[in-house]
Amino acid sequence: MAPRPNFVLVLDFDGTVTEKDVGDEVCDRFAPPAWRDIDAAWVRNELSLPEAQRQMWALARCDRPEALAYAKQVGKLRPGLDALLESVHRAGGAAWLASGGFDFYIEAILHGRLPRFERTYFNSTRFIDGKVEVTFPHASLSCGRCAVCKGNVCDLARASGARVVFVGDGASDRCAIGRADVLCAVQGSLLARACEERKLPYVPFLELDDVIEAL
Ligand SMILES: [Mg+2]
Ligand SMILES: [Zn+2]
Repeated sequence: MAPRPNFVLVLDFDGTVTEKDVGDEVCDRFAPPAWRDIDAAWVRNELSLPEAQRQMWALARCDRPEALAYAKQVGKLRPGLDALLESVHRAGGAAWLASGGFDFYIEAILHGRLPRFERTYFNSTRFIDGKVEVTFPHASLSCGRCAVCKGNVCDLARASGARVVFVGDGASDRCAIGRADVLCAVQGSLLARACEERKLPYVPFLELDDVIEAL
């Protein structure tokens, strides 16, 4: 058995590991503009994230190779990822990926880096006759609002006694507020604004190696 990590770095994917939200970019390219209304309804809490994603992706028209090619084109990694993962391992911690995004682009973009994560949680896709069907395999991590709830992932990491550092940017990362020992948010992001509104401390960053000091 691997030794118990003394801390767990829980990383969001879209807009955190990557500079852009890859899922949004793929929808923008292959779905009519109405997908944005569905996304906005989720941000306003009128729909759960999986329900919004089911509706958004049902509008997309693409096959797997073209969706993948586009995702790889727009899915530029945020600088500092390798330095951060290296520091986590050197310091005796573990990195977990917790994403409300989807397998096809996460696996392609992370590529050889996937094994550097001790655990990975994300959703699944099936491409059938030019349409995209999304599924949510991590039912035990759902909070009702999110399929992969960042707050529940933080709780899971904490249950082992590890200190938890959460790193994210977006609306679905709001569930991690108050559930991690340290919360790092992309500067100017929705998560950063949510922390400011609640007057809660967070570590702002633009490059992932800036997070190393918070470990
Ligand atoms: Mg994100
Ligand atoms: Zn949640």
